Amino acid sequence: INRSGSQIREDFLRFFEGKGHRRVHSSSLVPANDPTLLFTNAGMNQFKDVFLGNEKRDYTRAVSSQKCVRAGGKHNDLENVGFTRRHHTFFEMLGNFSFGDYFKKDAIAYAWELLTSNHDHCFGIDPSRLYVTIFEGDAKVPRDDEAEKFWIEIGVPKERIFGMSAKDNFWQMGDTGPCGPCSEIFYDMGMGAAEEAGVDKPFPHDDQRYVEVWNLVFMQFDRSSDGTLTPLPKPSIDTGMGLERIAAVLQGVLSNFETDLFTPLIVRAEELTGHKVEPEHAVDERSRASLRIIADHARAATFLISDGVLPANEGRGYVLRKILRRGIRHGRLLGQEKPFMYEMVFAVRDEMQVAYPELKETAERVTKVVLAEEEQFARVLGQAERELDTAFYSARRDAQRPVILSNKPPVRVDLIELAITTVESNPGLTLEDVRKNHLPTLPDAYFEIASRAMREAKPILDGSAAFRIYETFGMPLDFMVDAARDAGIKFDHEGFEKAKEEEQQRARASWKGGSQKSAAPVYRELPKTEFEGYSTLRVDGAKV
Ligand code: ATP
Ligand code: MG
Ligand code: MG
Ligand code: MG
Repeated sequence: INRSGSQIREDFLRFFEGKGHRRVHSSSLVPANDPTLLFTNAGMNQFKDVFLGNEKRDYTRAVSSQKCVRAGGKHNDLENVGFTRRHHTFFEMLGNFSFGDYFKKDAIAYAWELLTSNHDHCFGIDPSRLYVTIFEGDAKVPRDDEAEKFWIEIGVPKERIFGMSAKDNFWQMGDTGPCGPCSEIFYDMGMGAAEEAGVDKPFPHDDQRYVEVWNLVFMQFDRSSDGTLTPLPKPSIDTGMGLERIAAVLQGVLSNFETDLFTPLIVRAEELTGHKVEPEHAVDERSRASLRIIADHARAATFLISDGVLPANEGRGYVLRKILRRGIRHGRLLGQEKPFMYEMVFAVRDEMQVAYPELKETAERVTKVVLAEEEQFARVLGQAERELDTAFYSARRDAQRPVILSNKPPVRVDLIELAITTVESNPGLTLEDVRKNHLPTLPDAYFEIASRAMREAKPILDGSAAFRIYETFGMPLDFMVDAARDAGIKFDHEGFEKAKEEEQQRARASWKGGSQKSAAPVYRELPKTEFEGYSTLRVDGAKV
């Protein structure tokens, strides 16, 4: 009786069609006419102007399943992916919208009916597993007693309704414009989730056990630039429910990645990397995370490229490149050094083409882009690896030189270093071999000093040098850390972070000046989003 992800998507759309909503196809991941927004990150994006009253449509109720990407920019879930059970870079947001039509009471009634009823298209969730939050109020806006009243009327016990601060439960589109309190609906994943997380805390203190599935935004005010809130003549509704999360709930699994939306992709990733993770093999958590990351990033890359984004060194294309390279990196961690991500594209197409028929047309082109990026990244890695070798070389010299110089009487540093580099650049060769076969005229004492320098030196890969390679060549940080460890060189994490921070500050400064061009070429700050509602007002409770 498990409902497939596709069925759930369709049920949601049909339920709201039955309530007079117009079914609207997902808009592109690249927001139309909105350069302030990096990627479409919520269902309401395509209706922004309708909410603002700048655009009229021939319907006042809409329902959609919207492709969203939250990577880069303000809404960055990229680092969460693979490590939380509920975050993706690409996900589908199911949403119902009212443009000055129904408001709070009906929005709450519809949501509750869909979630808990058993009739056609409804989800039949046990109400005793649901929690609801409301806006607790602040200096400007009173507590949302109205929402609380409606939730109670519909049957939610008072003790399951929690007041939360503006950070979580007051939504705004930007510094100005429509805004209002919201209610989030959470599902109790149960003790299994609590045990796996190793904690047992009551709602709302455990974001592993209690998962936010749906957010209902009650657009009620218009915020002017001086901060005053004027009640909207026509309050509106904007909701968003993550398809993958509700699928986990309805399929009775703890993680989005165990739903049928993901399992075929994970199986394909196992095949393509030749790395199969047995379900009972709890120890291999890292490999499992890698497979999830590959599956997630394959979806994101496929849809982004399909929507016209191409890998690049800045802006949207840069985020895509980062996603692709992260996927490739995790393939390498699983032992696959040949291109494989491009094959994942077909798996994504096969799973998603019914809901997103455009993939049928674009998949061929998308694979070519992905394959080209994989091949290029292989070359970049080669180049970056040579750079890294040079940095390792300097790190060793810097650490060995004081040992060499400490000798009395002074010795020829260059000759001792020559002995050492001859060893380093000939794998398998020992200092003794070099003494006998390569540099027989060098005094024996020099080899003793060389040997001591090699033993006693504690080379450190300078953080700013590492950052330069990271920035210039896009070599992933964990790549460098691993390589340094293999080479017996300490990685200067602190210096790296400092260099990165400095670079970000430079980029921010140049952004403030309005000149995007002067930002650093690769790790440039992404365009600021004007639409900040979903990020500025919600706590991203995800723990990595
Ligand atoms: P969370 O607090 O769990 O990060 P959020 O409050 O940031 O979620 P919203 O901005 O309210 O999320 O988005 C509406 C819905 O979209 C959420 O209730 C959730 O079901 C889903 N959602 C949000 N971010 C993601 C993501 N990265 N991956 C999958 N689903 C998501
Ligand atoms: Mg939310
Ligand atoms: Mg939230
Ligand atoms: Mg979030």
